[in-house]
Amino acid sequence: MTRTETGEDSETETTAASGETGTAAASGEAETTAASGETGTAAASGETETTAGERETTPADDAFAALSDETRLAAVSAVAAADEPPTFTDLFEASDADTSAGFAYHLRQLTDRYLRKDPETERYELTYAGRAVARALDAGTFTERVDRAPTGVDGDCPVCGASALAAAVVDNVVAVACRDCETDLLALPFPPGGVRERDTADVVEAFDAYHRRRVALAADGVCPDCAGVVDGAIDLVETPALPGEEPRPLVAAGCESCGFHLRVPVSLTVVEHPAVVALFDRHGESVRNRPVWNLGPEWHETVLSTEPPAVAVTVSLGEDRVRLLVGDGPTVVDVERDEGAERDERDEGAERDERDERAERDERDERAERDEGAEGSERVDGEVASERDGEKRSGDDGGEESSAPVGGGGASASDGADPSASDSERSSAPPDASQ
Ligand SMILES: [Zn+2]
Ligand SMILES: [Zn+2]
Repeated sequence: MTRTETGEDSETETTAASGETGTAAASGEAETTAASGETGTAAASGETETTAGERETTPADDAFAALSDETRLAAVSAVAAADEPPTFTDLFEASDADTSAGFAYHLRQLTDRYLRKDPETERYELTYAGRAVARALDAGTFTERVDRAPTGVDGDCPVCGASALAAAVVDNVVAVACRDCETDLLALPFPPGGVRERDTADVVEAFDAYHRRRVALAADGVCPDCAGVVDGAIDLVETPALPGEEPRPLVAAGCESCGFHLRVPVSLTVVEHPAVVALFDRHGESVRNRPVWNLGPEWHETVLSTEPPAVAVTVSLGEDRVRLLVGDGPTVVDVERDEGAERDERDEGAERDERDERAERDERDERAERDEGAEGSERVDGEVASERDGEKRSGDDGGEESSAPVGGGGASASDGADPSASDSERSSAPPDASQ
């Protein structure tokens, strides 16, 4: 048996692959198994689970109590670190236990929930929960708090244009702000393990990649934290801090299972849409070269309808333009490609949007009816993440919401503490989010 861990580790990171994950989640069983090394654990309760959907829960206090011992935590880590599943003797010798009887007692407290003993080989493996514990221990999830003083970040402020961005880490939350206009662009949680071995410039790069994937995952309807179902809706957010700005459309998405929540500009939820990726590719560029806190002037958002919500996200490079019609859900309902389109879409685009609004709406309705799953549609729920905890940072201060970096359209994200309220939106960030 291959160790699950391997599978899992990669998986975790992989999250990236939102697309895939999404699918797996949706379709289920077969994949699950695959993925699973992890699920393997579940094996005990297992197989059935996949198919039939059984569910077994353990009282949380029992689950945590079983771990409240140094010897047991060390045993979980030892199994995780072993090159091949260890035997009882291997684990006992590596432990600080005085007697094998005492050590056996500790292992029994872990068995089934965190460790599984192969009946034939009598070797120990981690269950899904055991892997999660081992990784959290190594990653410092529960035990490590990281802070880093503000350090300059490349790029211009999407709000004032100054090259004065700085990133700081405070209690495992990375925040990007403009030192010139004092706008907090975004603040989102970031695992301590992501900071530990990187200098701040690399932290910022990793942070961008990390949240880009998390947003994509949430946009695919899969919670980046627990894989639960994420639903998102488009909210129009007032941006009092930016006079003259119209309400910006943000995607507010949340996981019903674990409470993960995020709020992000609509553009950020479609940043890796194949049509967008292709557009950049044709121009010899990559969408990934733009950080999540400032997608850049190529992006423009236009609210086509509020009831039901519909936003056109236009991305223009040179003479080419891609226009994604994003409906509530949010779902990409339609994709329009103009090669050699007229250039200033910012202005012209707006007119055009109005002009076409009606047509588009009809089209969209038609399509929606026809079938959401149809080819053009894709689910996008953005995450701007706001996780409950991180919350307010941006909200509090940030007063500016908006900034749209993105070409005007951008929204800002915020975090959300209260997703519903308008205040929460304050964050300003450009396109991004805060959690
Ligand atoms: Zn600024
Ligand atoms: Zn969740």
